[in-house]
Amino acid sequence: MALTKKRILVLGGGFAGVDCTRKLESYFHSDYDIEITLVSDDNFLLFTPMLPQIVAGTVAPRHIVMSLRALCKKARIYESVVRDIDPVQQHVTLEGTPEKIGVRIHYDYLVIALGSETNFFGLKNVEKHSFTMKTLADAISLRNRLIDMLEQAENEKNPKIKERLLTFVIVGGGFAGVETAGEINDFLHDAVSYYHNTKKEDIHVILVEATSTILQGFNKRLTEYAHNKLEKNGIKIILENAVTSFDGKIVILNKLPKPSVGIDSKNIINSHTLVWTAGVTPVEIIQNSIFKIKKGKIIVNEFLEIPNYSGVFAIGDCSQFDDEVNNKFPPTAQLAEAHAKLVAYNIKQTIENKEKKKFEYSWKGQSAIIGKHYGIAEVMGMKITGFWAWILWRNYYLTKMPNIEKRIRVWLDWNIDLFSRIDISRYGFKRDASKEYRELDEVDDVW
Ligand SMILES: Cc1cc2nc3c(=O)[nH]c(=O)nc-3n(C[C@H](O)[C@H](O)[C@H](O)COP(=O)(O)OP(=O)(O)OC[C@H]3O[C@@H](n4cnc5c(N)ncnc54)[C@H](O)[C@@H]3O)c2cc1C
Repeated sequence: MALTKKRILVLGGGFAGVDCTRKLESYFHSDYDIEITLVSDDNFLLFTPMLPQIVAGTVAPRHIVMSLRALCKKARIYESVVRDIDPVQQHVTLEGTPEKIGVRIHYDYLVIALGSETNFFGLKNVEKHSFTMKTLADAISLRNRLIDMLEQAENEKNPKIKERLLTFVIVGGGFAGVETAGEINDFLHDAVSYYHNTKKEDIHVILVEATSTILQGFNKRLTEYAHNKLEKNGIKIILENAVTSFDGKIVILNKLPKPSVGIDSKNIINSHTLVWTAGVTPVEIIQNSIFKIKKGKIIVNEFLEIPNYSGVFAIGDCSQFDDEVNNKFPPTAQLAEAHAKLVAYNIKQTIENKEKKKFEYSWKGQSAIIGKHYGIAEVMGMKITGFWAWILWRNYYLTKMPNIEKRIRVWLDWNIDLFSRIDISRYGFKRDASKEYRELDEVDDVW
């Protein structure tokens, strides 16, 4: 008996996967011959632009995550890890249950939206010891670490150890690195008011970027503004330099920082905390797939379809066009959203035997926040800096949150934060990593 139902399978519950599923749901909401399935390893959409604010505690963690079941009401949802994609047999295998029984899902149309993971460029010891900023757990772990460092430093008598505890290195001058550095710096500066033996001057936040500028892709005037503002707020920025090693205590740079940075002219930084935001790479399952890959991403044609595999699409951070024209845009949430909408449309057109549309994208501008009350933005040819750019960032991202209830909660968090003292309580779970700085080489008597 021929199957009349069409099965659409979406992999990944990030911006691309969720937007695509929602769009498909809106096209086929009353069509019971279309089955939509969404698979993701978490049961929520994480609103990454606000992740750095979780570190600072400006926003509560559960306010930037939205349950997939609340967002996608028609689709069947599997919270599971994709283990294998077989585009020849047209099925996907999911990780097994605790009884070790795997799940195989067959599809007629497949959308791969599995995003990316942190790229350590083979630096094994950096990977082992550093903090990352990709998941909610990453942000909470980092927040806990900052507070832990303040607590340890407060009663530390040895000035060298104290300095190491209070030095924080962020690697990568892109969106994630700059916004995280800004939030960390503000948080630490506000938090010291609770600590009697620690002053603002004891805090060292250092941003390391391999190229000649932070926030590449922004207009030069805006990046200069951001650079100067961050420095004025106390962040030291080391450009054209790369971290080559970190053993949990010492960060090694590949060359001496310029004297103007204002740190010892040595290529080492004593620090217990390194945050790595220097690059992303598509998830392993994609890198090991049979699809044609470029820079680790799946190559797609102008319809976002994978050549030679009709009905299979790749979108968001894990996809890459074969031509340079469409590749000029950096991987962002707004680009993932545009991919998602087009692929949902193209699947609908294919099912209805109509013509597909090519990808065309008009860049809408970009903005970044650089600490409390300051930002930069490029919108409709305008270049905005300072307070108004910060307001613009907030309004833009608030409206982009797909869940109205979460929007209100974030808005309330922000406003309450304006009038309240910073919260330095930890969230009650500790990272698995061993507390290397708590090893007992000797015991001090304290009187
Ligand atoms: C800290 C930070 C700040 C950012 N700030 C901005 C910003 O201000 N503006 C902006 O536009 N962009 C920003 N971005 C970039 C933006 O988050 C990404 O471009 C966007 O998330 C890409 O969407 P995606 O759906 O392709 O991938 P993702 O959002 O990464 O989604 C991929 C999904 O797939 C799931 N997944 C992965 N592997 C598997 C598997 N094997 N099995 C099952 N599920 C799996 C993941 O859990 C995830 O849910 C930021 C990113 C970070 C990390």
